[in-house]
Amino acid sequence: MAWILRLVKIGAEGDGHCTDVMEINRPDDLGDIADLGLTLAEGKLLLAGIQREIVAAQAGDHAVRRPDCLRCGGVCRVKDYRDHAVATLFGQVTVRLPRFRCAACGAVEVGVGWPSHCRSTPELDQLRAHLSALMSYRTAADILEQLFPVGAGKDKETMRRHTLKAGAAIRDCATMRPETTAPGITITLDSTFIRSCQDGERHLEVRVGNVETASGGRQVFGAVAGSDTDIKMLIRRNLEAVGQTEDTALTAFTDGCAGLRRILADADLAEPPMLDWFHIGMRLQHLKQIASTLSTDDPARMAAKAVIVAETERLHWRIWNGKAQNAQKSIDRIRTVMHQFQGEPGSKKSVAPSRKLWTALQALDGYLSGQSHWLINYAERQRAGLRVGTAITEGTANFLVNRRMNKSQQMRWSRRGADLLLQVRCAVYNGTFGSAYGQKFQPANDSSAPVPNAA
Ligand SMILES: [Zn+2]
Repeated sequence: MAWILRLVKIGAEGDGHCTDVMEINRPDDLGDIADLGLTLAEGKLLLAGIQREIVAAQAGDHAVRRPDCLRCGGVCRVKDYRDHAVATLFGQVTVRLPRFRCAACGAVEVGVGWPSHCRSTPELDQLRAHLSALMSYRTAADILEQLFPVGAGKDKETMRRHTLKAGAAIRDCATMRPETTAPGITITLDSTFIRSCQDGERHLEVRVGNVETASGGRQVFGAVAGSDTDIKMLIRRNLEAVGQTEDTALTAFTDGCAGLRRILADADLAEPPMLDWFHIGMRLQHLKQIASTLSTDDPARMAAKAVIVAETERLHWRIWNGKAQNAQKSIDRIRTVMHQFQGEPGSKKSVAPSRKLWTALQALDGYLSGQSHWLINYAERQRAGLRVGTAITEGTANFLVNRRMNKSQQMRWSRRGADLLLQVRCAVYNGTFGSAYGQKFQPANDSSAPVPNAA
């Protein structure tokens, strides 16, 4: 069986004008399910064919228009024609466009609203950036080529260039304030590292964070330290985007890093940022895990291990309940019995558990005394239904940065490249990467908010 796909143009002057786009041949029996309907290859050819015809008709209509001169309002005449190759989502098209010259003043008019160096449509650019935000440039290029009849610019370098351009556009775009204001906002800030491709530098620090309102509004943001993106500006903008006003109470969490704390200090907080439970919890977990591996090869060590295990539990309880000033007691008690493990053998692969425990204990001791001002009564907060930490931000660092930028040892990044890609990723996750950059914050993007019924 065969079909002819015929495109019929209707409108002011093109009534009834028709063009055959393509002939489709498919088997007339259904012995093989693969013969059912169109194939992907045919679908791509079809889209490309329709695109060519529509573009040709648009260019034809455009060519007979005569714009007025923008400078003097005089009548323009055709000066010459230029071919413009433009990549679209449905194939590369060539548009023959006239250039005009004003009969009165001689000025040259192009008659289109886009610059002559424009080589692709915004929709294609956007899809390139969107896919690249979610997967490697190479994979994104492959997907685009598999699914769409994109003719040109499907290599990873082009994908990268368009993504970085989109990232810069997002960064330079102003925030839209939401209609509703937020009485309280929780802001969390954390950092992670990615590998650098620049000489003399092994890692780049990436700061990520999120702002959340009680009603469930949420925005994520991030910037590579030392890039052109100012993290303080991002914080201000994201607070605005979820409805911050002069009356909004801000609560902040961060890990022990002084740099992050300084950044938050500039963000108009009523109280200093709290040390989040997530980071302390991880250290305590580490300590308990090592304690459980201590050897019990004689009665004295068995007794000492029992003391250490009990004291690590007590240490946990004390810090959780806001009694960190007593943490030293537990740490000292552990230290007093540790001589029992002198000479504890290590293995070929790792040092003795008791030496690991000593090191972890020293680190925790230092951490707690350095962070003593920022520790709070976590148990009390949790009982009051308040947040105690930033596990959510640790998750943010993972899905925002690590999942795309730390997937393999081979991934190395330039400061600018990583930062601008991150801007696109944030916009994708915030649901603001729409057809217009910086679209208004929509509570609809938030899965935990109640969905209003359509009236
Ligand atoms: Zn003129």
